[in-house]
Amino acid sequence: MDHFLYKKGALHAEDVAVRNIAAEVGTPFYCYSTATLTRHYQLFTQALDPMPHLVCFAIKSLSNIAVLKVLGNLGAGMDVVSGGEYQRALAAGVSGEKIVFSGVGKTQDEMRMALLGGIRQFNVESEAELLALSQVASFLDKIAPITIRVNPDVDAKTHEKIATGKKENKFGIPINRASEVYALAASLPGIDVIGIDVHIGSQLTDLAPFEEAYFKIAELTVRLREQGHNIRRLDLGGGLGIPYEKSNLPLPLPSDYGALIKRTLGHLGCEIEIEPGRLISGNAGILVSKVIYVKEGEGQDFLILDAAMNDLVRPSMYGAHHDIIPVQEAAIGAKTRPYDIVGPVCETGDTFAKARPLTDLTAGDLVAFRSAGAYGAVMASEYNSRPLIPEVLVHGHNFAVIRPRPTLEEMIARDRMPEWLSNES
Ligand SMILES: *Cc1c(COP(=O)(O)O)cnc(C)c1O
Repeated sequence: MDHFLYKKGALHAEDVAVRNIAAEVGTPFYCYSTATLTRHYQLFTQALDPMPHLVCFAIKSLSNIAVLKVLGNLGAGMDVVSGGEYQRALAAGVSGEKIVFSGVGKTQDEMRMALLGGIRQFNVESEAELLALSQVASFLDKIAPITIRVNPDVDAKTHEKIATGKKENKFGIPINRASEVYALAASLPGIDVIGIDVHIGSQLTDLAPFEEAYFKIAELTVRLREQGHNIRRLDLGGGLGIPYEKSNLPLPLPSDYGALIKRTLGHLGCEIEIEPGRLISGNAGILVSKVIYVKEGEGQDFLILDAAMNDLVRPSMYGAHHDIIPVQEAAIGAKTRPYDIVGPVCETGDTFAKARPLTDLTAGDLVAFRSAGAYGAVMASEYNSRPLIPEVLVHGHNFAVIRPRPTLEEMIARDRMPEWLSNES
């Protein structure tokens, strides 16, 4: 169910008119739906019932602590890839016992933070990391529960920048070296080997690569158990894709994904963990922007928006498509024309869409980028000295600013003048 719909011609986020939010917070801004976040989390947990499981939201896709609180209140765990994300999970009230720590480059400071604050498990990605974790845990007189991330060498058939499960990618240890690395792990002080971790990529639109990977994980589970390891938890990563275009073929649903997990891994009696990010947060968010100018070009018209690549980088970074719709619904049968939709940043790469058919728009009109909840706000920067844009959370008839827009003074005040320059007059 879509919670960003037109009601009497006005785009709403749940029961709030988007233009009312714009009037109060200004544009551009991100807007998230509590109902969508809730529903998507529940689809996953229902899909895994009755297997023992924990759905750990991948914080890197959308990290505002109000969003984490919504999911944490429903019982979600969290998947973190940095000390900063770990602290966000705690700040949202999620207990350490529900936080898994992923990532290829955990520092010893981050390990210490998680061991002292509480952690469900570390997903270890290399022997060097294993040795470092053993040292840190031993020094603190703690036991670090771990899985080892294996790289199953499958082609996720997704964008090359977000494919992680091929042997040439930097992630995990090659699956054919697993026995060796698990033996090392079992021999180290401060380490408790509890399971296996795998994550093959993001925005997967087909279940076949998951199936190939999970068959390999099932085999590996049996083999490692024969070698004496008590494998009791399988972390299957995230990666299920979402339809960015209305015209996309029907994509696999969380229920299909859950059925696949049961079929490939259900007989092993392991606790299942998954780490979805995009499928929970992607369609739970829109980016709202205002038309600054319509510029008539040669052959095409440019729609120049007040949002730019620094606010939503996916189109320029991944060539990603976002549906862009007017906040005031177009009249039925109104003629469309092709617009190049761009931001104000001084780069040609600051283009959101080319020759996108839209009905006539004029300066001051509002548009919304759909499916902008995941990898939107979290990847934003202040390029061109454009302050990070606000985030708003909607819940029924209510909305709240969950991150205010900084003033230009606040942005600039973070810089410091060195003494030798400030003394010059
Ligand atoms: C990025 C990532 C995820 C989330 O991926 P989505 O495609 O957003 O579901 C989960 N686990 C790990 C280890 C990741 O790197």
